Amino acid sequence: MSILKEAVLYKPVDNNAVICTACARYCRIPKNSIGFCGVRWNIDGKLQLMVYGKIITAHIDPIEKKPLVHYMPGSMVFSIATTGCNWACMYCQNYDISQRRIVEGFEASPEMIVKLAKGYGAHGLSYTYNEPTIFIEFAHDVGILARKEGLFSTFVTNGYHTPEADAMLSKFLDAATVDFKGNADVKFLRRYVTIPDPEPIFQSILEMKRYGIHIEITDLVVPEIGDDLNQARKLVRWIYDNLGPDVPIHFLRFHPDYKLMNIPWTPIETLEKHWKVAKEEGLRFAYIGNVPGHPLENTYCPECGTLLIRRYGFDILEWNLDNQNRCKKCGAKIPIIGQLNPSYDQDRFIYVPIHRYAKYSRTESIKIVKN
Ligand code: SF4
Repeated sequence: MSILKEAVLYKPVDNNAVICTACARYCRIPKNSIGFCGVRWNIDGKLQLMVYGKIITAHIDPIEKKPLVHYMPGSMVFSIATTGCNWACMYCQNYDISQRRIVEGFEASPEMIVKLAKGYGAHGLSYTYNEPTIFIEFAHDVGILARKEGLFSTFVTNGYHTPEADAMLSKFLDAATVDFKGNADVKFLRRYVTIPDPEPIFQSILEMKRYGIHIEITDLVVPEIGDDLNQARKLVRWIYDNLGPDVPIHFLRFHPDYKLMNIPWTPIETLEKHWKVAKEEGLRFAYIGNVPGHPLENTYCPECGTLLIRRYGFDILEWNLDNQNRCKKCGAKIPIIGQLNPSYDQDRFIYVPIHRYAKYSRTESIKIVKN
């Protein structure tokens, strides 16, 4: 059974149809029909969010998993998702959640989500695994409450927003990872993601920046079909010109999944070439992701080259910044928001089966903090 709550982001039009304004698809939804994402339902001319307080999965993650590496490093985020998505990526690793068109999950009010987050020792929230703008009204209510309780909020998003959505995000969102795919190449996005044009993503990034939301960029590099270095150069030039040299970019390794099982893992050399392009174009903090142990997971001082933060996957192994986030060797200020979380401890995590807490979740386990 779904939980219905009237959406905020929509406009009524003729014949009891509505236009949904939560994402850049701007679905025109006839009476008694559901939008592309599967969670926004026009009932008699009123758009209802079908997943308000309906969570398909919840998990405690290191913030580095998002990836957010220049925001509150070493902190833990209580991560939630609903069913549905506004994209239909053919390689989606969460397709069983995102492409599911039956609303399922366990019931959790904003109060319960924040209570669970605090109870598990999380420092913030993350709305992730599927595209969170499709349930933005729920995320908003959780985020407002979370902020009152001293928790921050982060989105892992495809950035395919509207100005209305970004205005709502500005009320509660602190940081976002914006995930590009295939170097933001239009041909790739049309064929493998099913959106006509990436332009709304660029506009949303600018809006979020204007609202003071911390942004990191990822680019999923898909070999053979989405690994064009010229496109990558175009993307990093846009980032440099519009966001500046300090915005982190993460080139992520693809692995075969869902409908693209025939495409191999991204060769590491391909990722390294992308990293090189970013550096050539002046980005000061470029990373490679999904290659645990690779030296380009680390943060290096852009002034003197000193290794500042050594990572392995989502773990921080070494921290060489002073208490004002300056390079201990040359004193260069490193633009990281927050310092290494004082409770950071690599050995603090244990796994507890989530079904104790969430009857219908597909997630096998939840990571919680030992006390
Ligand atoms: S959020 Fe869903 S219903 Fe709304 S425009 Fe996007 S895909 Fe369509």
